[in-house]
Amino acid sequence: MTEWRGIPRTDIPWFPTIDAEKCIGCRECISICKNGVLAFDEAIRKSKVVNPYNCVVECRTCARLCPAEAIGFPDATWFNEFITEKLAARGKP
Ligand code: SF4
Ligand code: SF4
Repeated sequence: MTEWRGIPRTDIPWFPTIDAEKCIGCRECISICKNGVLAFDEAIRKSKVVNPYNCVVECRTCARLCPAEAIGFPDATWFNEFITEKLAARGKP
């Protein structure tokens, strides 16, 4: 997806981050995500983010399913304010 509601997808900082200290390498997140956001890093035996902007804006499915609570997303309140401003500014020069 190159745009989300008229905003360039790369202007929207919504994607998972993985805490490598917590990740147990179960690959559950890779199995559940159909968008190729995550991949397994064989060198460290943990998941990593490889295509952040393929992540569906406001999806948190992988984080909900991670047994180690290793996946984080932007703070919801901060993100709501950010995206509301972005949408309001959409179309302005
Ligand atoms: S689901 Fe969680 S613990 Fe399992 S590989 Fe993904 S980030 Fe690591
Ligand atoms: S939040 Fe959804 S789209 Fe984004 S990486 Fe996780 S499962 Fe994939």
